[in-house]
Amino acid sequence: MACQQFDSVADRLQIPASERDRLKYPKRSMTVALPIHRDDGTTQVFAGYRVQHHLTLGPTKGGLRYHPDVTLGEVAALAMWMSWKCALTGLPYGGAKGGITCDPRKLSLGELERLTRRYTQEMIPFIGPQVDIMAPDLGTNEQVMGWMMDSYSMHMGYTVPSIVTGKPVLLGGSVGRREATGRGVAYLVNRATDTLGMDLQKSTAAVQGFGNVGSVTAYSLAKYGAKIIALSDVYGGIYNKKGIDLRKLETFLAEKNTVAGFPEAEPITNDQLLELSCDILVPAALERQITEKNAAKIQCRILAEAANGPTTPEADAILAQRPEIFIIPDILCNAGGVIVSYFEWVQDLQSFFWNETEVVDKLFRILETAFTQTLALSHKEKISPRQAALSLGISRVREAKKVRGLFP
Ligand code: NAD
Repeated sequence: MACQQFDSVADRLQIPASERDRLKYPKRSMTVALPIHRDDGTTQVFAGYRVQHHLTLGPTKGGLRYHPDVTLGEVAALAMWMSWKCALTGLPYGGAKGGITCDPRKLSLGELERLTRRYTQEMIPFIGPQVDIMAPDLGTNEQVMGWMMDSYSMHMGYTVPSIVTGKPVLLGGSVGRREATGRGVAYLVNRATDTLGMDLQKSTAAVQGFGNVGSVTAYSLAKYGAKIIALSDVYGGIYNKKGIDLRKLETFLAEKNTVAGFPEAEPITNDQLLELSCDILVPAALERQITEKNAAKIQCRILAEAANGPTTPEADAILAQRPEIFIIPDILCNAGGVIVSYFEWVQDLQSFFWNETEVVDKLFRILETAFTQTLALSHKEKISPRQAALSLGISRVREAKKVRGLFP
């Protein structure tokens, strides 16, 4: 998907073949074997990956994912998207992504910690605050980042907060980092409703995935006045056309750890959620959720791609024939996470910390610029917002490679 999208933009920008490979190939791809002691006394080896897409604009930056479907190819695609995302938002980074093929729900806390520490140890030759900086993604969180930071710091012999972002605030994390992605999604949805002449306070929203990004998006949209009518996670979904009471859901979640089974709503499947009639649809779980099978059946006005790669190129072609649906493309829609990660890294390097108002204000300014530039190009060239966002990101990396030249 990432390569297909790149090729279609490269065709439009008439990028010659000699330059395409330089932009497309990941600079470094690492695979590591991670043996750990399981709690039952056995030893198990897990596969871990890290792909650094390009080093032209600074260190690489990107999340670390724990999921059973993680492969080198998936990580490489996600790293490429990170590159275009960072360039689109003007951050001094290349893209990266990492992952471990595992199901974190089936590992104890101790096993997760040993796996994370072993992965960090194996990655030490390839990471550093000026080389490659990790952050949370699907299946990882502040605690995982805290273990990574501790493992790296133990190796160096002194505390190095800037080695990861998305760590606990107590360890040099940034206020507002955990909420950044979802907050950014809601900000952009609000901007999109302005652009389309919709009233967010009268809008309904359905969110797939109630993890970090999905839950904060739902709470933030509710704060803007939208009615949240459907939510889901890996265990299933819930639907209430009158709106889901998020406060009551929080109490339910604290006990059950899933939204599925919430009594004041009807059960629905993840597939049904995507086809609900609503104003705002937010896929915030996995990639490839909107495919050629359901793209024609989607009934929203705004598709806010909080997850990375939720829409396949085949689905994109179908949606291109449905101009009533406005897509906020993933590399723009979920950029809030890496933007505040960048703030965290800057704060760590200076050991000087900002308050939440400063963080949120700076976040919204960067998102506003990226949103305005994407929309302006989309209107000027009569291309989709996705093509516009990718064109801006790819062109900037291409230009940077040109002015740096080719070594030796
Ligand atoms: P998370 O692990 O906190 O939450 C993921 C959610 O998706 C959980 O509720 C999980 O139950 C649900 N889920 C998993 N498999 C599912 C399935 N098959 N069907 C439906 N729901 C499923 O992860 P997250 O950090 O919220 O990331 C979600 C998405 O957002 C990912 O695509 C990630 O790459 C992207 N993203 C995250 C960040 C960030 O800052 N965390 C930044 C940018 C993009």
